[in-house]
Amino acid sequence: MKKVTLIIPCYNEEEMIHLLYKELCVAAEKLHNMEDIQYETEMIFIDDGSKDKTLECIKELREHDSRIRYLSFSRNFGKEAAMYAGFCNASGDYAAVMDADMQDPPSLVPEMVKIIESGDYDSVAARRVSRKGEMVIRSCFARLFYKIMNKMLDSDIKDGARDFRLMKREMVQVIIEMKEYNRFSKGIFGWIGFRTYWYEYENVERAAGISKWNFLSLIRYSLDGILNFSWVPLAVIPILGIICVLAALVFGMVILVRKGSGTEFAFGWEVLVCIIAFFSGLQMMCIGMVGQYISKIYQESKNRPHYIAREASDEDMKKIL
Ligand code: UDP
Ligand code: MG
Repeated sequence: MKKVTLIIPCYNEEEMIHLLYKELCVAAEKLHNMEDIQYETEMIFIDDGSKDKTLECIKELREHDSRIRYLSFSRNFGKEAAMYAGFCNASGDYAAVMDADMQDPPSLVPEMVKIIESGDYDSVAARRVSRKGEMVIRSCFARLFYKIMNKMLDSDIKDGARDFRLMKREMVQVIIEMKEYNRFSKGIFGWIGFRTYWYEYENVERAAGISKWNFLSLIRYSLDGILNFSWVPLAVIPILGIICVLAALVFGMVILVRKGSGTEFAFGWEVLVCIIAFFSGLQMMCIGMVGQYISKIYQESKNRPHYIAREASDEDMKKIL
């Protein structure tokens, strides 16, 4: 018998816990009665410092269902921390993170397990193909964000990708070993590689309660994604610097030629603009150089693995020494 771990980060989700539990039980039942292999289910609820009765609801469920495990944070640490805590405590052969609001439908899990069991994939990632029910401004910004991200990142993130994905134990282990503090899971999932099947489904609206994200927190989240996985902004600074210096040089030549030919006189302000542009550009180039060193230090400090092996003739060879 194999085990599937479902990790559920919860922040002020008292209205959702019981509703979700019912759905989880249906999915667990399906997993238990699958044809080839039977699966037991472990449900790990991470209470991310909720201020309502979320923890009490979880405890109530735990009293009569030993498949439920929970961890309650001392304060709100954010969904990324909650997911990491879930992965660290998962004991299943497969693990998936899902939102408490049922926007990641538990009913998809048995399908996902089947796809991984087919042997061609290491993970099945959920991707919304529509954003119906979401505010228009939000979905426009989200689309733009993923477009920019995909151009800038060294990690593959699809538009509409969610944190909801079922992964094999090996992948979960690699994620646990990525100990960086500033976490951006979507980027991490893409960065670690492995063979991923993109499972497409129509957006489902939140079943109850309200979204925990506001516009500002979404902007912060986007910035986190870019800062964690892309060096493009740092590379742009020296390029701007070079453009400024070149423009100043060309402008300077024009002034000299005009002055030399004696036809026109160079005004003081023209020379001044030229000098300011030249030195600003020079400064930007220097800042850019410093930026390159900082990016190297940042990369080193993340302590990411040099490589991640998927298969090897000996298990030992997969380890990074
Ligand atoms: N969540 C969390 N900590 C937070 C914010 C959210 O654990 O600080 C959980 C929340 O309870 C839910 C999931 O993360 O299970 C996704 O949150 P939400 O539905 O508010 O996000 P949205 O679907 O609107 O992007
Ligand atoms: Mg939601």
